[in-house]
Amino acid sequence: MRVCVLGAGVVGLATAWALSEAGCEVIVADAATTVGQGASAGNGAQLSYNFVAPFASPDTLRHLPALLFDKAAPVRIKPQFNLDFLRWNLAFLLACTSRKERETTVAQLALAALSRAELDIVEKTADLNFCRRVAGKLVVYRDSDSFAAARRQAEAQRGLGAEQMVLDGPECLRREPGLRIAPGLLRGGVYTPSEELGDSAAFCDGIAARLAQRNSVSFMMGGRVAPVLRDGNLVAVRANGTEIEADHFVLCLGSGSARFARACGFRLPIQPMKGYSFTFRPRDRSGELRHSVTDADRKIVFAPLDRPDGQVIRAAGIADLVGEDHRIHPNRLEAVRRGTADALDVDLDSDPTGWTGLRPATPDSRPIVGASPVPGLLLNTGHGALGWTLACGSARLAVQLLLGQEPSVPPAAFAFGR
Ligand SMILES: Cc1cc2nc3c(=O)[nH]c(=O)nc-3n(C[C@H](O)[C@H](O)[C@H](O)COP(=O)(O)OP(=O)(O)OC[C@H]3O[C@@H](n4cnc5c(N)ncnc54)[C@H](O)[C@@H]3O)c2cc1C
Repeated sequence: MRVCVLGAGVVGLATAWALSEAGCEVIVADAATTVGQGASAGNGAQLSYNFVAPFASPDTLRHLPALLFDKAAPVRIKPQFNLDFLRWNLAFLLACTSRKERETTVAQLALAALSRAELDIVEKTADLNFCRRVAGKLVVYRDSDSFAAARRQAEAQRGLGAEQMVLDGPECLRREPGLRIAPGLLRGGVYTPSEELGDSAAFCDGIAARLAQRNSVSFMMGGRVAPVLRDGNLVAVRANGTEIEADHFVLCLGSGSARFARACGFRLPIQPMKGYSFTFRPRDRSGELRHSVTDADRKIVFAPLDRPDGQVIRAAGIADLVGEDHRIHPNRLEAVRRGTADALDVDLDSDPTGWTGLRPATPDSRPIVGASPVPGLLLNTGHGALGWTLACGSARLAVQLLLGQEPSVPPAAFAFGR
């Protein structure tokens, strides 16, 4: 079977790998000239297998006025007057219930567990090195109320999943000596020893190199893909004046997926959620981090990536629902830079430019995996803030659905139009 994977981000490449392992002939097509150039390039590097709670929740609903009107909030929603944006927001509001939040958390935990197991297999089979390690995650709180809520949440989750420890401020600083938050400003933290991190761009490069060695895999890079429909079926895509035909197509275009779907004649509920990151060097060895750290009240994550030439710290944050806008907004980038300087001892000149990327966000934060309304087109997109974490699991699910195999997780939770 000949399958064309649309998109060479972490989701598309994980899908291409799973298809190739299943014996398919695979073509990967992307507008960029090299792989992993979209949201997968500079993300937060968290393999966040236990922190999968959706953005849509009763708590987010309570804070909505601040998100709409506070220009300094780490999350910003800029109202846009187009039908897709209005529909997305309506669906988002309807997902802000405790029942939906619980349903999403359960579904995402199952997909995340599958993803961890699949990544283990891919890492070994393809012999990849992408700075993956079980670093543990320390989420620290500056605000008493948010720490109290986190403590209640950790206690409620006791026995349900990963082991978690609630620490006071001094214990946080002892466990993570790289943290430079003044003791008086730190209320406490929650530590989850089993959490992992890894460099998704290095994963993309590594897996693409392995795929390129196979005769049954080819890459068509450097051309935007447009659908070619015949009698309502997707039979080919056109890129750079060439038609690529295949038996099936898998849509993995990240935040570009909704546009492709529109050209096919249906709407995908995906909005770009813009974020920013830096990759800093610690000022010296004492500034290195042992764990992945989240500064919860500033909503910035820090991931120490141990590269052969020394540690770099990926600092990522900001979630702006501002449409398909790839520009760097200096104030928003500066918020991540300032937040990093307030928490760690890094050399701010080691990354003078920073990076921005668009998370492909669905209203309920779950990816969309499975059949589309167009025969010939399977969906594997909309992974939002967890695309790196979920890539290998959703690739497995997509391939199982395409090949008619028993799915490893209940597919209804991820179906289009759920
Ligand atoms: C600041 C930030 C921090 C994040 N942190 C984390 C984290 O810590 N952990 C985590 O799990 N996830 C994180 N994410 C989310 C994660 O990065 C994304 O969910 C994931 O990268 C999405 O992968 P993708 O392959 O679907 O999309 P992308 O990586 O964006 O790839 C899509 C590809 O499609 C191509 N494309 C689009 N349209 C077309 C077209 N018409 N024709 C041809 N090609 C096209 C693009 O060139 C691109 O290569 C973060 C994201 C951001 C922005």
